[in-house]
Amino acid sequence: MINTRITELFGIEKPIIQGGLMWIARAELTAAVANAGGMGFMTALTFADPEGLREEIRKCRQMTDKPFGVNLTFLPTLTPPDYEGYIRVCIEEGVGFLETAGRNPEPYMEQIKSAGIKVLHKCTSVRHAQKAQKIGCDAIGIDGFEAAGHPGEDDVTSLILVPRTRDALDLPLVASGGFADGRGLAAALVMGADAVNMGTRFVATKEAPVHDNIKQAMVDHTELDTRLIMRTLRNTERVLHNTIADKVLEIEAKEGETKIEDIVPYVSGKVGKEMLDQGSLERGTLAAGQCMGLINDIPSVQELLDRIMADAEAAIRERYSLL
Ligand code: NAD
Repeated sequence: MINTRITELFGIEKPIIQGGLMWIARAELTAAVANAGGMGFMTALTFADPEGLREEIRKCRQMTDKPFGVNLTFLPTLTPPDYEGYIRVCIEEGVGFLETAGRNPEPYMEQIKSAGIKVLHKCTSVRHAQKAQKIGCDAIGIDGFEAAGHPGEDDVTSLILVPRTRDALDLPLVASGGFADGRGLAAALVMGADAVNMGTRFVATKEAPVHDNIKQAMVDHTELDTRLIMRTLRNTERVLHNTIADKVLEIEAKEGETKIEDIVPYVSGKVGKEMLDQGSLERGTLAAGQCMGLINDIPSVQELLDRIMADAEAAIRERYSLL
């Protein structure tokens, strides 16, 4: 047993979090993580409207009686989402925890906090973490450069970012970016984090609702097989290296300002969803982290979480026995 301020905050057994995963963090995966003793956040924007999220929250409740939360990401989108509507549904459905990400959640904090919802805000720099503490967030997730999806624009790895954030603020802290196994969890705890957040590792699990080709791709690729796209738009995204990522980079390398319209056919969420459903690895872009180098199998979520806990405990014991 490893008890931390994060296990206490969420009322969970294991300091392991499945954060937002666009299209993937739906009831099946989130409930599996909750049932295995971790904390799962289902991704609100996966559902076309707030009522779709409501349905999925209810579905998840039927699959688990353990705590789970909802991820709400505020990044540029092709169609503006009804953020207030998603939050209203969370309040009406009695969701206790939100993971916010992408941008400062301040405009929505009054709505969220007046309902007593606890907020874990995921950010990519120490200054943003300090701001999140100031506006009343209950916990901070700090996302290192290794991470899949949007790791920010500062390019600082978890090895620096986690202890720097720990030194800069008092809130419970979740380390994210590069974590996939028990050694990573042990290291994160030693660096001052209270839990780890994993994304890519959860894609390669039995319960992840994606095509088997996508799961196998997480096993077959390594830490060398990601690329950073949309840097020219200051909305950098770490994705699996494929011909589409190369195509986007080629467009971005052209002289003159890149516009989102130039790359929409390659990066849109609609295409990404088809890719996940059909298992077509060259159809679009797929968020993937450097931790692919640490993924060698496709276990159930329960097997994965049990193994991570056993390996983390062993790693900590072995280090102490050296003293
Ligand atoms: P989408 O189809 O609206 O956009 C596709 C990609 O282009 C996204 O990465 C988006 O951030 C980017 N984009 C859109 N308009 C842009 C602009 N004007 N300038 C710069 N970049 C722009 O996205 P989607 O796949 O439907 O996802 C919805 C939102 O959720 C996006 O903001 C996406 O980045 C974000 N997201 C969330 C998670 C999560 O885990 N919650 C993970 C990945 C992405």
